[in-house]
Amino acid sequence: MPAIRNLILILGDQLTPDLTALIGADPARDRVLMGELRDEATYVRHHKKKIAFLFSAMCHFAEELRAAELRVDYTTLDQPDAPGSFTGLIAQAVARYKPERIIVTEAGEWRVARDIAGWETRFSIPVEIRTDDRFLCAPGDFRDWAAGRKQLRMEYFYRDMRRKTGLLMDGDQPAGGKWNYDSENRKAPALDLFMPRPKAIAPDAITQAVLTLVEARFGHHFGDLAPFWFAVTRADAEAALAAFITRALPWFGDYQDAMLTREPFLYHAVIAQYLNCGLLDPLRVCRAVEAAYRAGQAPLNAAEGFIRQIIGWREYVRGIYWLKMPGYERSNALGHTRPLPDFYWTGETAMACVKAAVTQTKELAYAHHIQRLMVTGNFALLAGIDPYALHEWYLSVYADAYEWVELPNTVGMSQFADGGLLGSKPYAASGAYINRMSNYCGACRFDVKQRTGPDACPFNALYWDFIARNRALIGANPRMAQMIRTYDHFAPPEQERISDSAARFLARL
Ligand SMILES: Cc1cc2nc3c(=O)[nH]c(=O)nc-3n(C[C@H](O)[C@H](O)[C@H](O)COP(=O)(O)OP(=O)(O)OC[C@H]3O[C@@H](n4cnc5c(N)ncnc54)[C@H](O)[C@@H]3O)c2cc1C
Ligand code: SF4
Repeated sequence: MPAIRNLILILGDQLTPDLTALIGADPARDRVLMGELRDEATYVRHHKKKIAFLFSAMCHFAEELRAAELRVDYTTLDQPDAPGSFTGLIAQAVARYKPERIIVTEAGEWRVARDIAGWETRFSIPVEIRTDDRFLCAPGDFRDWAAGRKQLRMEYFYRDMRRKTGLLMDGDQPAGGKWNYDSENRKAPALDLFMPRPKAIAPDAITQAVLTLVEARFGHHFGDLAPFWFAVTRADAEAALAAFITRALPWFGDYQDAMLTREPFLYHAVIAQYLNCGLLDPLRVCRAVEAAYRAGQAPLNAAEGFIRQIIGWREYVRGIYWLKMPGYERSNALGHTRPLPDFYWTGETAMACVKAAVTQTKELAYAHHIQRLMVTGNFALLAGIDPYALHEWYLSVYADAYEWVELPNTVGMSQFADGGLLGSKPYAASGAYINRMSNYCGACRFDVKQRTGPDACPFNALYWDFIARNRALIGANPRMAQMIRTYDHFAPPEQERISDSAARFLARL
């Protein structure tokens, strides 16, 4: 066996040719290591489409590296000696090559970073862990930004990222004179709007083989494998981005919060799965969106709203994750312990909004932000579902889900389980919000206008019961305090009916 200088490990969400671990890679003396690993596919039971997407994208990336002359060892899941874990993969390669050094770009998830941290001792070889420069804000920089602040508000972090990147800046001023155009981005949907579909890519031979493997090995996991239309190469992911920019971006802002039956995507980009595994570069995506705005092809509220999601929210939640891990995953400020209802897996519920969100999640491994936040997340919050169980659900079911981004969104933004570290108030809403932003309620067995009783929308009694239950914790926020005052104005018999309706509904869950 030829002497190997560096063993370069590429993780499944590091499918980027200019990844720091690959800098200086020498085709003659270094060996790149990639593997389809049982542990990674099963530490939660990931959606079948998500596993297939990642395995196929990994296979295609290995081909891309080989085309660039690098020598790649790629272990498939069905190989007889396939290792189950990253540590096993490294152990086999170390025994095989006796390398001088292991090189890896820092892991996205705490769980994997902890394993990597043990390798130097375990294998008695230097391990070089390189910074992941695909993000704009390193965990240490976020820690510095957070230090000494009473409140960690995304808006101020986002403004710093705008200044740092120069995105949508005219000199030192924000384009258009305002940092944030969110107030223009809350239009309810209209049924006669033209809704573009994300670019669908037909599976090639590699993807077909992966689909067969995933069905055989993970057939019992949640979700539908077919139809499979995700891009699995950089070129196709870029084509999907280009299609979004021309067909949907102009309306992205206006209808960002809208929801419509049988329109799972509306004007969303459906690119988080590509960004999060490295097929798309966040900064390049934002620059392309800014270029569309500067060329007059998209309005400012759309471009700003979109760029804020990526350099604002996406970077901010990653900062929170590394600031608070480990331990953040067990946050439970509201003391919620109810098990996750079965209908999160089956979609079998009479609540039309929840049914729509879960059913499309099963079919597509996708739901847009407002469905995640204001339907499945909101329901769990109002019903007092255990945030850890909910976290595992979100981590399993979406093609874009990795703990660094999913956990703060679930535990912090959606469940207020961190007591208000990430968001200033809980995203709790009654059926009126869902009715305003969607057309779900018209076809629902429940009546969104009724507050209590067997036919009332469950979100209504649960909402007021949530407000009453948590007044001490949420009352500091002025908008929540207003809701508490409204509740206090209900006559005592109405308050009793609310508590009774909520209790009866929860008992049936
Ligand atoms: C409970 C919950 C769980 C979530 N879990 C994940 C997750 O596992 N992975 C994930 O990428 N996003 C997650 N999000 C954020 C958001 O819902 C998804 O990024 C978005 O729906 C992906 O679809 P899209 O590409 O069409 O996004 P668009 O709506 O088109 O937005 C564009 C991009 O902005 C970024 N973005 C938007 N909102 C957020 C956000 N809140 N946090 C981080 N990035 C954001 C994404 O990269 C997204 O692709 C979660 C949100 C909630 C409320
Ligand atoms: S009535 Fe209530 S449960 Fe039914 S779709 Fe509307 S918000 Fe959802």
